[in-house]
Amino acid sequence: MTANGVSIPPERARAAREVAAVLAPGRRVALTTHVNADGDGVGSEVALWHVLVARGLRASIANPTPIPERFHFLLPAGADHSTRAAREIEAADVVVVLDISDLSRLGDLARAITQSHAVACIDHHVSQGSLPGGPRLVAPEAAATAELVFDLASELGWPLTPEAARALYVGILTDTGGFRFANTTPRVLRVAGELLERGVDPESIYSSVYASAPEGRIRLTAEVLATLVVELEHGLAWVTVPPDALHRHRVTADDLDGIVEYPRSIAGVRLALLFRQLANGKVKVSFRSVGDVDVAELAQQFGGGGHRKAAGASLDGTLAEAQAAVLAAARSYLDGREG
Ligand code: AMP
Ligand code: MN
Ligand code: MN
Repeated sequence: MTANGVSIPPERARAAREVAAVLAPGRRVALTTHVNADGDGVGSEVALWHVLVARGLRASIANPTPIPERFHFLLPAGADHSTRAAREIEAADVVVVLDISDLSRLGDLARAITQSHAVACIDHHVSQGSLPGGPRLVAPEAAATAELVFDLASELGWPLTPEAARALYVGILTDTGGFRFANTTPRVLRVAGELLERGVDPESIYSSVYASAPEGRIRLTAEVLATLVVELEHGLAWVTVPPDALHRHRVTADDLDGIVEYPRSIAGVRLALLFRQLANGKVKVSFRSVGDVDVAELAQQFGGGGHRKAAGASLDGTLAEAQAAVLAAARSYLDGREG
């Protein structure tokens, strides 16, 4: 059907109604997203929080890791209970997992979520997912989870306030890389247009999300870019976050967002990587591609996942070991698909 000038595919409309069926007024709902929440995870949960509270549900945000400072401007007072997330999830009648379908990226909350009464999921990842059964509004062709939250609200006729619209716009803006990536479809631009109709101010959102950086983010960027290695014979480029750099610059993982776009932007590069040692001893790799290189496939070789042109994985071993393994796989993958 057509709602708000943007048509909703029938299967997606049906899935939206199944999710809505468990969101009855009066229910206690916990909203959560993947570790190191991004703009799409936070934007989707904040928008859904507004919609559900207006419908008379008791909603709270309960994330496995703290919401990055960059997105605090979106948070309604009293909405974020991430410091006691596991208890919120245990006490909820329904858990809505947004922007992820895999238990493995829900950190310490995986156990509580597995034991929940009802788990709904709204997501746009390729992975089949490992969440317990429940209603699913999952569409890998959606640019952002925020696009699907927009569809849910539209299909059910649930009003989007300017605050909710702003949060969804942040999700779409950040997951499309500012409307530059391949997932920038005509449809998602129409959805963004509908959000602007509801009073979203793109300039002020740009300023909050991208132009209110702590000084450390810029200094960190400089340090990471200094590690750049380019192998044009393979179409490969990568950067590495020096151990303890986040700590020294007093920033968080969120401040690394977008750095991998620099190696990707080099002419002739088809695959760009960012390596980072995690506090838990693992090594996080971000994969970004150009053209027909499918990084979701590559990341899956290392137990990760994501999308065709943006994926990630967390590997065991030292930084040097993880780097050697991933670079070897990347070179052979790239050499196998020349031209
Ligand atoms: P990132 O490189 O962290 O910006 O993530 C890029 C994409 O890959 C995101 O859409 C994530 O959903 C996905 N992703 C990142 N890390 C992992 C992981 N460890 N396992 C599965 N998917 C991941
Ligand atoms: Mn995400
Ligand atoms: Mn997303």
